Amino acid sequence: MSTPRRFRTATELVHGGINRSQYGETSEAIFLTQGFVYQSAEAAEARFKGEEPGFIYSRYANPTNDMFEKRMCLMEGADDARATASGMAAISAALLCQLRAGDHVVAARALFGSCRWVVETLMPQYGIETTLIDGRELANWERAIRPNTKVMFLESPTNPTLEVIDIAGVARLANQIGARLVVDNVFATPLLQKPLELGAHVVAYSATKHIDGQGRCLGGVILSDQDWIDEHLHNYFRHTGPSMSPFNAWTLLKGLETLPIRVRQQTESAGRLADFLAEHKAVARTIYPGRADHPQADICAKQMTGGSTMVALELKGGKAAAFAMQNALEVVRISNNLGDAKSLITHPATTTHKNLSDEARDELGIGPGLLRLSVGLEDIDDLLEDFDRALAGL
Ligand SMILES: *Cc1c(COP(=O)(O)O)cnc(C)c1O
Repeated sequence: MSTPRRFRTATELVHGGINRSQYGETSEAIFLTQGFVYQSAEAAEARFKGEEPGFIYSRYANPTNDMFEKRMCLMEGADDARATASGMAAISAALLCQLRAGDHVVAARALFGSCRWVVETLMPQYGIETTLIDGRELANWERAIRPNTKVMFLESPTNPTLEVIDIAGVARLANQIGARLVVDNVFATPLLQKPLELGAHVVAYSATKHIDGQGRCLGGVILSDQDWIDEHLHNYFRHTGPSMSPFNAWTLLKGLETLPIRVRQQTESAGRLADFLAEHKAVARTIYPGRADHPQADICAKQMTGGSTMVALELKGGKAAAFAMQNALEVVRISNNLGDAKSLITHPATTTHKNLSDEARDELGIGPGLLRLSVGLEDIDDLLEDFDRALAGL
């Protein structure tokens, strides 16, 4: 259950949801405990009946996790949240807790690899029908609707080509048929895009990315309105146990304190790098949601307040050039992770998206020369010089 919002986002991300112990510590306490003791047998009975507030078992809820969940609710404008062990635990729980055999899901085909596996491979094993579409056109969502469509699912901007999907438009279609829209908001970050305000019903994050932002721990979080959490997620979460470690909740609380300044700086640097790359003769295509030449610049302007910390670029020289450039970079490191203080670059065709068929990769625009860049907190001039040097060698 969330606490009422009193201050602006940056202030709530430092103070929001804090629950101090009897010692009055400044920094949030880490409650590394599995269970809790009761003053009496009567108190235990009352707590299990829900007649008395308090914690029962850390698989259900924990004071440190509770602070993280409340702070996330304040940022997202959600009634309630559940913190999970990883982003995939969040996405799979957000989808599976509300679906049953015979239901149908429509999802955009441009998804994080493991999300696509959950939709394409796992769900059909449980009798859930799924349709993957090119999510950029609203008409494709409308055409895919069946009488048993219960959930629509998308991420925007997408991984790795930073396509953008009209969240408000898809939410309208979902509402027309009484279905729910689940949005994976990792690439946009909770600061640059507010899916619940755009009409989505459920938002899920990999907190591993920008929320930690310093490469330390895995985590995830699911946010929605109280009715949805109570009806669909509450029991699923308690009894399947995707819970976050309290230590990770503490690490992520510290991450939230600095999230606004990190995302602002990384987004500004990403914009500068995108402008530089777009002008370079070795680069065939630069995709950045903050640029006027983004294919869906109008939707970006409507639903995002910044271009994100991610840039996609396609080199003219194909795989050989993509590998040579990655190997020549001295500041930017080669890694499939993202949202980190360290700038990271990956070649999706041979790493994150290697398991897709050639046809599926072509559909998504993942060519041999495509690279995905996550912009970090280094000095922008060092990043610009790093690319300038690495590209000059091609
Ligand atoms: C990383 C990521 C996930 C999965 O998160 P984990 O914390 O690695 O489990 C899901 N969706 C997107 C868009 C991601 O970037």
